[in-house]
Amino acid sequence: MTRTVLKADFFWPLALLCVFTLGLLAAGGLALVEEFDRAATQREESVVENGLLERIHDSAWHAAQEVVWDSALKHLDDHFDAAWASQNIGVIFGKSLGFEKCFVLDAENRPLFAADAGLEVDAHNYEAFRREAESLVSLVRGLEIERGPIHNAQSGANPLPKPVLANSVANVSGRLYVLTAALVQPDFGSVLPRGPRAPIVVSALRIDQGFLSAFAERFLLPGLVLHLEPYRPHGDEAEVVLHNDRGERVASLTWVAQGSGKMIMRRLGWAFIPVLLCLAAGVLILYRRSRRMALGLITSEARAAHLAYHDALTGLPNRVLFFDRLGLSLSQMQRSGEVVAVHCIDIDRLKDVNDTFGHHVGDELIREAARRMAGQCRSSDTFARLSGDEFAIVQTRASAGAGAALAARLTEAMAQPFELTPGRVFVGCSVGISIVADPHIDPPEALRQADVALYRAKQTAKGQFCFFEQEMDAQIKIRRGLESDLREALANNDFTLAYQPQFHNDEGMTGVEALVRWCHPTRGNISPAFFVPIAEECGLIMELGMFILRRAFEDSKRWSRLKVAINVSAKQLRMRDFVARVVELTQEIGVDPHQFELEITEGILLGDDLETHEMLEELRRLGFSLALDDFGTGYSSLSYLQRYPIDKIKIDRSFIANLGVEAESEAVIAAIVKLAQALNLSVIAEGVETIDQHERLSMAGCRDMQGYLFSKPIDAVAVDALISRTSDAAPQAANESMTA
Ligand code: C2E
Ligand code: CA
Ligand code: CA
Repeated sequence: MTRTVLKADFFWPLALLCVFTLGLLAAGGLALVEEFDRAATQREESVVENGLLERIHDSAWHAAQEVVWDSALKHLDDHFDAAWASQNIGVIFGKSLGFEKCFVLDAENRPLFAADAGLEVDAHNYEAFRREAESLVSLVRGLEIERGPIHNAQSGANPLPKPVLANSVANVSGRLYVLTAALVQPDFGSVLPRGPRAPIVVSALRIDQGFLSAFAERFLLPGLVLHLEPYRPHGDEAEVVLHNDRGERVASLTWVAQGSGKMIMRRLGWAFIPVLLCLAAGVLILYRRSRRMALGLITSEARAAHLAYHDALTGLPNRVLFFDRLGLSLSQMQRSGEVVAVHCIDIDRLKDVNDTFGHHVGDELIREAARRMAGQCRSSDTFARLSGDEFAIVQTRASAGAGAALAARLTEAMAQPFELTPGRVFVGCSVGISIVADPHIDPPEALRQADVALYRAKQTAKGQFCFFEQEMDAQIKIRRGLESDLREALANNDFTLAYQPQFHNDEGMTGVEALVRWCHPTRGNISPAFFVPIAEECGLIMELGMFILRRAFEDSKRWSRLKVAINVSAKQLRMRDFVARVVELTQEIGVDPHQFELEITEGILLGDDLETHEMLEELRRLGFSLALDDFGTGYSSLSYLQRYPIDKIKIDRSFIANLGVEAESEAVIAAIVKLAQALNLSVIAEGVETIDQHERLSMAGCRDMQGYLFSKPIDAVAVDALISRTSDAAPQAANESMTA
């Protein structure tokens, strides 16, 4: 996951989510405030409405109670007394009860009397109110009928009759009134209604500014306004609509609502800001933490991804990525037709460096080697580390020539010395190349072919490269078959020993070298140079080695005067109980170790470890002498000769073969002989085939020799015969002996 993807996939959605959540919270809060307000306003409105209705009802009730009065019935119904009406109705309603107008209607609902603010006025003033009062009057008349006639009531015998009234709000000439029509009734029954219909007193209480102010004060209503015209409340105004008895809208009252939500907002507004800030800070912290976490995840994911595809030590692509790229190159090859070359590279002697200096130096070498080899590749090539010392390259747009050129560059680069912490080291590398012609090949198969070629390159000589050829597969098959045949041969004791005599110029035959022989049931004689390495690889060398030692020990008993040289493989020497088993064997067979010379190669000395030292010393203490075989082909380091308890060096055949061919070979041999003498070591030349070689060696100071010139390897019986024949004869005579 890249940072851009992270931004798109993570940060923006998170940021949006935060903003959205905050928005939602704010919107939710506002909606809640609104809801609070709406509920509070509704409650306020209903409280105010009830209060107003109650106030209207109270005034009506008071008016009605005033006319339940025997005296009123007497003076208004029996015979209308204008002076009484003025004094009692006009003044009481106008002055005491605060009604602006009041009218007295007779049984026929005609106005008999009118008063304005407690003062009598012309009864015709009723006309302005008639329209609004008429419906109330007829309601009262209906209730009067419902009540029924009042009969001769005994004073105090009956309870006071209930007031009969109807009331409503009304707009009269642009003024708002509470109109009440109340039936005049007896209270104690001293006077009874004259007829079926009693007079009615209509009173009008003006809802004026004074009324509103008192009302607003009582109900704490700021900005209370009366609207006689249709009005639409806005903002935070609350409203109560007043209807008349016919259900028509007459007026409305509005005031500023005391919304609790807004009040909370107002009161808590300042407290809310820090809460919001805290919330925002929380969101920011959460965002930062998650961002850091996500970045950490990305980094570790990238690291994990890198590790999954790269080698930790060198940073090169690993096996997984290698196969990925190889597969890709092969599919590109199908389209473009370009050739792909697969190189398999092995660092020679890495194991020796590890053994000698430790794994940290081995790692240093691998890193440096990787850097050096990577420098030889093009950027389009994939250079990978597959395992310990195994590297591979996918070379695109290749050809046999380009493949060889790259391999040559690699071996050349690796042949240069490495300056490591402990000092200068020479290693080199071997390369196997597979030129892929078939794009449908499986990537692992392409690598296997390169690996087979590498194996061949290593076998041929170190520091070489080799192309894969089909016949190598056949050889590998043979090799596998030989492995199992070897096991069987060991179980059946199918191996024999041949002995190649060694001669001294003056002393004649002084020793023999034991050489193992295997006559394969179907393949015939197979060279030990071929099967010994196989035995080493498949772990059979210890068993095979012990067999050789046993046979050589047994045969040696026949030649008490001869030194018997026995080849011991490096792998064999590294086995822990080697010395113990050898000692055991000498005792079992009853031989003297002084009669034996163990031939070892330089490889075993490379490790320079204490264990090898002690083991070789131990063998020497026991009486075995040690010869360094194939001298001159490996490191040929003087320091080994000084440090290890070596008795003899065996000049490799290749030097002898060059005698008389290359001018300097004689000088080299002379130098080796001088060196041996200086170090007090014996020296023997092997592979001596001609008299000329014999003479040149003698001239160079080498007097011990071994080779076909004297004798090929022969069986033990032939050695017996040779001993008896050559005891007095010249060395050359041995050449006619039988071979094995
Ligand atoms: P090596 O130890 O260098 O043995 C000498 C090899 O040179 C022998 O080959 C021998 O037959 C051959 N040789 C001797 N004289 C001449 C000559 O004049 N000209 C030529 N061209 N060759 C000559 P061989 O017996 O095939 O052994 C090959 C290698 O196999 C040996 O090389 C040795 O490394 C290994 N080997 C042989 N026997 C044993 C054994 O018993 N144990 C172990 N560990 N390795 C053995
Ligand atoms: Ca040898
Ligand atoms: Ca040799």
